[in-house]
Amino acid sequence: MTKKTIGCDNCYRMGYMIEKKGDLSFARICDCVLRCRECNGSGSVLSKNEKAYIYISNCKVCGVIRRNVKLYNLAGIPAKYYTVLQLGTFRPKAKNESQEHALRYADHFVKKYPDMRGFLLMGKAGVGKTHLAIGAISEIILERGIRCLFKDFFHLLSELKEAYSQGTPENEVLLPLIETEVLVIDELGKGRSSDWELNILDQLISKRYNASKITLITTNYVSKEYMKEDQETLEARVGDRIASRLHEMCEFIYIEGQDHRKALRKKA
Ligand SMILES: [Zn+2]
Ligand SMILES: [Zn+2]
Repeated sequence: MTKKTIGCDNCYRMGYMIEKKGDLSFARICDCVLRCRECNGSGSVLSKNEKAYIYISNCKVCGVIRRNVKLYNLAGIPAKYYTVLQLGTFRPKAKNESQEHALRYADHFVKKYPDMRGFLLMGKAGVGKTHLAIGAISEIILERGIRCLFKDFFHLLSELKEAYSQGTPENEVLLPLIETEVLVIDELGKGRSSDWELNILDQLISKRYNASKITLITTNYVSKEYMKEDQETLEARVGDRIASRLHEMCEFIYIEGQDHRKALRKKA
């Protein structure tokens, strides 16, 4: 008997397509999955156990695809990155050793998940930090079914403020951010944060730390030991306490390089 598989030419045998939907990237289940013969497209099958009890279980042929697609759609990946489904799409610049190093680390992180610490990518805008973080989570969501959440730091704080002003208890607001297996905080330190905001961030980071949860960070600020010019450090932006926690949770990687967006504009 041949192994039943799913996939067609339309979806490149993946069983789904990724497209933009509003502000977010969206995974759509392909028609070939919706026509799965094993489960008649329902996603679940009736099985019997040894005591002859009948129970419902996920379809062995298409169940995993359906679950991973659902997880991808809950991750909040921005529409701009809808083509970034794996790290393989990241192309380091010629002779940019720091970009290659960051890519290598992210690649190991994905392959060895959950045995490696998260990473914190520092560097100027446009050096590929967000691309690498999204490549890593997309890969572990779509191939391994890991629950991940992407949050822009600035949006994260406004969401928290909004919820708080409506009387939602802090714990409740933070819960999904604490519970997710992998959390990406993009552009940490952006904008002026109040003491209240830093306190909330401190709670979030500490709780994830205590629960041994993996956190990935991108930031335009550099930590003290990488500071080259006279610029504001990450420690100054988020406070020493949060920064030292992050040091324990993440591998700090500094990416050098010209802003590729500027480079593109120059070429044009
Ligand atoms: Zn298909
Ligand atoms: Zn099925």
